[in-house]
Amino acid sequence: MSQKGKSFDTWCVHAGWDGDPCTGAVNPPVYFTSTYKQEAPGKHKGYEYSRTGNPTRHALESAIATLEGARFGYAFASGMAAIDAVMRIMDKPLRVVSIADLYGGTFRLFERVYRPLGYEFWYAENNSELLQVIEKKKPDMVWIESPTNPLLSIVDIEEVAHTTRKVNPEGLVVVDNTFATPYLQKPISLGADIVVHSATKYLAGHSDVVLGAVVTDDDAMAEKIAFLQNAAGGVPGPMDSYLTLRGVRTLHLRMERHCKNAMVIAEFLNSHPAVQTVYYPGLPSHEGHTIATKQMRNYGGMVTFRLKDDTLDAAQVFFSRLQIFQLAESLGGVESLANHPAVMTHASFPREERIKRGITDGLIRLSVGIEDAEDLVADISQALEPLA
Ligand SMILES: *Cc1c(COP(=O)(O)O)cnc(C)c1O
Repeated sequence: MSQKGKSFDTWCVHAGWDGDPCTGAVNPPVYFTSTYKQEAPGKHKGYEYSRTGNPTRHALESAIATLEGARFGYAFASGMAAIDAVMRIMDKPLRVVSIADLYGGTFRLFERVYRPLGYEFWYAENNSELLQVIEKKKPDMVWIESPTNPLLSIVDIEEVAHTTRKVNPEGLVVVDNTFATPYLQKPISLGADIVVHSATKYLAGHSDVVLGAVVTDDDAMAEKIAFLQNAAGGVPGPMDSYLTLRGVRTLHLRMERHCKNAMVIAEFLNSHPAVQTVYYPGLPSHEGHTIATKQMRNYGGMVTFRLKDDTLDAAQVFFSRLQIFQLAESLGGVESLANHPAVMTHASFPREERIKRGITDGLIRLSVGIEDAEDLVADISQALEPLA
């Protein structure tokens, strides 16, 4: 579909849909149908069966592709289903280089589903090690996230793509763009071959749906992902597709506010006596600040910090006092959430491994929502009071 306008903001509002051809409806109807009436065997309007294609899902797929600056998008029933499809793209067990700070669900899929099938994985601890491991292993695939979870480290996507291509022209670079969204960074324009999303997070944006996406600008890879989507069948239903597209319509506005609020909170925490370290790529003190400034439009809505009293007890005090921030897993919704990686999202790591990775007992991850910044700062301030 040709896109109206030249700006990302206009695409957020319009991409993927140009009025219903039958009724003119400005929003895509939620096509609750599994099958489609044919005029004669094989003579149909482009849709035969909803695993293969559904107009509501297609509107979403086309919109996400447009926002990532690519031609092809495919929606899946979850971010993990999208990631799983990408792992099967080459019809052989892959040799994959990735990062230690990987999303836990992706790590579990790699280690417990794909390693037993003969896949090999290496996880680099930092940017320079990542480039070295790529040079050494000449992998089939390099799988990265930036910013990472929960320490918000930044990976230089352009440099990784360049190095991968240099050592293996067939090597694929995959970027999980969940934390940044295409509002902040467009990995395909930085040299990535494939982008995956947990649209559950910022793209849908309202904590009301689980959905994933794969995006590519390469015809052969698109054909393969479309085949896997239909053959394995991990597709989202029309209602979830609709909810996600509905979220995408305000992505630019939400992201602008997420970033603005996150910066205010990061600066507040950075000068707070109860706080030891703040991890936010927007702070000049952050390791990845320079690369983030180069490859991102702004610094995102996630802020992580470590309490000076780096203990479970201190973290409990903080969480129990929060009024606006809700204690919950996940991220990227309009409402602010607080998460305790050591006990919640990263509890599956053995304690020593977790601490080695900086996920200490007093580490707290915030998904900063789009509420009023002063209200959010006041909430954090009163929750930290007994710890100061
Ligand atoms: C949540 C998440 C996933 C998994 O997505 P689901 O929609 O929960 O299946 C993958 N990658 C990242 C970075 C995530 O935050």
